[in-house]
Amino acid sequence: MESPLDILRRVFGYDEFRLQQGQAIEHVMAGGDCLVLMPTGGGKSLCYQIPALARPGMGLVVSPLIALMEDQVKALRQNGVNASYMNSTMGYEEFLSVSRAALRGELDVLYVAPERVMKENFIDFLSRLKLSVIAIDEAHCVSQWGHDFRPEYLRLGALGRLFPDVPRIAVTATADEITRKEIIARLDLSRGQLFVSGFDRPNINYQVVLKDSPRRQLLAFIKEKHIGHSGIVYCMTRKKTEDTAQWLSSQGIDAMAYHGGMDGDSRREYQRRFQEEDGVVMVATIAFGMGIDKPDVRFVAHLDMPKSLAAYYQETGRAGRDGLPADAWMAYGMTDVTGQLRLIEMSDGDQAFKRINRQNLDVMLGYCETTECRRKTLLSFFGDSCPVPCGNCDTCDHPVSTWDGTIHAQKALSCVYRTGQIYGTGHLIDVLLGKSTPKVLEVGHDKVSTFGIGKDLDEKRWRSVFRQLLALGLVAMDPQGYGGLRLSRESKPVLKGERPVFFRFDPEKSSKMSKIKTK
Ligand code: ADP
Ligand code: ZN
Repeated sequence: MESPLDILRRVFGYDEFRLQQGQAIEHVMAGGDCLVLMPTGGGKSLCYQIPALARPGMGLVVSPLIALMEDQVKALRQNGVNASYMNSTMGYEEFLSVSRAALRGELDVLYVAPERVMKENFIDFLSRLKLSVIAIDEAHCVSQWGHDFRPEYLRLGALGRLFPDVPRIAVTATADEITRKEIIARLDLSRGQLFVSGFDRPNINYQVVLKDSPRRQLLAFIKEKHIGHSGIVYCMTRKKTEDTAQWLSSQGIDAMAYHGGMDGDSRREYQRRFQEEDGVVMVATIAFGMGIDKPDVRFVAHLDMPKSLAAYYQETGRAGRDGLPADAWMAYGMTDVTGQLRLIEMSDGDQAFKRINRQNLDVMLGYCETTECRRKTLLSFFGDSCPVPCGNCDTCDHPVSTWDGTIHAQKALSCVYRTGQIYGTGHLIDVLLGKSTPKVLEVGHDKVSTFGIGKDLDEKRWRSVFRQLLALGLVAMDPQGYGGLRLSRESKPVLKGERPVFFRFDPEKSSKMSKIKTK
C-alpha cells in the first residue's frame, strides 16, 4: 500500500509534511479521531485528503461553503483524484450520476454540504458505501459564540455513532479555548486527539507597557523603532482614533484616523494610501483590518486593551506578514478593564454571553500581567506551544523579578472587605495610605482598621498590587464595570495565610523614553 508520504509526493507534488500534518495523518490512518487546528494556509486539507486516498473506501468531507467545495474538487481533479461534490446547485441528473459513481466505488473523495449529510436518505446512501474517513471542514461553525455558526453543524456529532468504524477528523483555523472546547463537545471528539500547530509568529516581538501617558509612550515607541514605517494603532473609540491621529501628526508622524463612522469614500482613500504608500500610520478602531493584506506592516500598537486574547492575536497578526521583524506593542492599565466590563454590561447579550466575555477579559488580563514568556502565554491559549524562553518578547528580554507580596495582598484584601466590597482601587489606596480625603472622611473610612496600614508602598506600587490581584483572580471586579472590587472565592486562603502571593515588579520606564521630546 502506498504510504501517506508517497501520496504527498506523487499526488500533490510536495516533499515533506508541514507542521503537524504528518502526525495528524498517521493518527487518522490508524483509525483515530482528531481535531486539527492550523492557521489559514497551514495545510489542513491534506490532513483529510491523504487519509481519504490512502485508506480503503471513499472520504466524505462536510464543507459549509459551496465555492470552497468547488475549488477543492477542481484542485483535486487536477491532481488526478476522483473527487466530486453534492450541493444545492446541482440538477437531479448530475446528482444521480455522482451517487452512482460513489456506489460503484469510483470516488476517492465526496464533498457535501452540512444540511444534506444528516438527511435520512443520505445516511442510507452512506451506509451502502465504504467510508475511509469523515472530515468536517471549518469545524468552528459548530460554535454558537462564533460569527459563522451553522445550526446544521450541531447534528454532525451523531456521525460518530452512526459510523463507529470510520475515523473522523475536524479541522479549523479558529483555535481559541472556548471554541476548541465547544467543537470537541459538540462533535463528540473527546476521545480524539488534538493537533495544534502553526500559530506562532516568530518574527513578531510582543511587548506590554503600563499606561502612564499612553500617547507619549506610543510616540516614544514609534520614534525609537519605527520612524518611516507602516503601522496600525488600535483604539477603542472613534473619537480617540481622531484625537490620536491628529496629535501624532502634530508630532511629525504621518498618521490618519480610520473608523466605521467615516464615509465610504474617505475610508477607501485612506485604505488605499495605507496599502500603497510607505510609512503611513493608521490609527483605527477594529473596523480596520479585514481585507488588509499589506505584508510590511512593521508594528501593531494597542492604546486600549482588546476584548479577548483571540482578538489580540488576530489584530497583532497583521504585523510582519513578510516574515521580517515586527512589533506588537500594547499600553494597558486598570481603566481598560473597567472600560471593557462596562461595554460587556451595556451590550444586549444574555447572561451566558456576558459570562463568556468576562472570561475572555480575564484571560486577556492574565496575558498583560504574566511574569512568563508572552508568546508562551499567547500560544498556550490556542493549545499551541513554542520554545521557552522565546527570546523575542519583553518578559524574555527582561525577565520579570517577583517579590513576596503575601502581607500586602492580605492588607489589600482586608481593606476591600472592611470598606464593604464596593470601592475601586483609587479609594482603597487612599485608605491604605491613610489619606483623609473628603470621600474617605465622608464614609468614615478613616475609622476602619485598615486605614493607613499600607504606608510602606507608594500609590503606584499599590496600583500594581491591585491589578495583579485581579489578574490572579484573588479579587473580583463588580461586573457592572464601575470599578468596585470585592473578594473572590480565592481570596480566603490568602487572608487566612494559607496561600503565599508573589507579585511582579513592574518594569521601570525605559530610559530612552525620557530623551524623546514631544512638541
Ligand atoms: P488551509 O486549509 O489550512 O487554509 P490548505 O489546505 O488550503 O490550507 O493549504 C494551503 C496551501 O499550502 C495549499 O496551496 C496547499 O497545497 C499547500 N500545502 C499544504 N501542505 C503542504 C506541504 N506539506 N508542503 C507544501 N505545501 C503544502
Ligand atoms: Zn518570550
